[in-house]
Amino acid sequence: MTDTHPAIRVSEIFGPTIQGEGVLIGLPTVFVRTGGCDYRCSWCDSSHAVDNQFRDEWKMMSTGAVWQNVVALSGGRPLMVSLSGGNPAIQPFGALVKRGHAEGYRFALETQGSVIRDWFADLDVLILSPKPPSSQMTTDWAAVEACLQAAQDKPQIVLKLIVFDESDYAYAKDAAARFPRLPIYLQPGNHTPPRPGNENAPVDLDGIIKRMEWLIDSVARDRWFEARVLPQLHVMLWGNRRGV
Ligand code: SF4
Repeated sequence: MTDTHPAIRVSEIFGPTIQGEGVLIGLPTVFVRTGGCDYRCSWCDSSHAVDNQFRDEWKMMSTGAVWQNVVALSGGRPLMVSLSGGNPAIQPFGALVKRGHAEGYRFALETQGSVIRDWFADLDVLILSPKPPSSQMTTDWAAVEACLQAAQDKPQIVLKLIVFDESDYAYAKDAAARFPRLPIYLQPGNHTPPRPGNENAPVDLDGIIKRMEWLIDSVARDRWFEARVLPQLHVMLWGNRRGV
């Protein structure tokens, strides 16, 4: 049967492995990482899914082909599928989510909140991760708000903020104040992300842990008891390695 749904631009599909960060940390997951992003964060840790120099590695895949990959990797046993990128919101995932739901799979999507899709309402988990000042990107808060509206309160929705320094921390507080009903997850940034084409570049784990300690101290000092502070577990375990 011909797949009439628009094709999805895929950088890589891998798993099952554990989700390494945020609200779903530790949960066995298959990742569908898309190619292409409307942002260029200074510390992006997924440049192989962002930089045009990797375009040749990206594939246009039908919804059916992506689905077959997910089923093969999971052995046909339903699990959480993480739609990540790049910015996965650019890609047409509505049909994949419907198809997976019919088989008992669940879907989480993480996005900076710059591209709004009506199929956000069909997700199980929507992770909004607006990018702080250290990214050198500018947040369009109206777009983030529109993502929330599109989701219509149907999925579980959380905020995830990367924090490198004081101004990022202030940004995270501002984000929490804008969306007080959303659970908030804070994550120390990785200042040693993989450079394009070099996933073996060492990670400064000591530096990341120091930033994590500073972040915990800041939250405690400010009595910001709603915030949860988590590391990137996969970075602690596997450094910058891809496909884990
Ligand atoms: S939004 Fe995410 S994928 Fe896009 S450049 Fe920023 S960190 Fe990288």
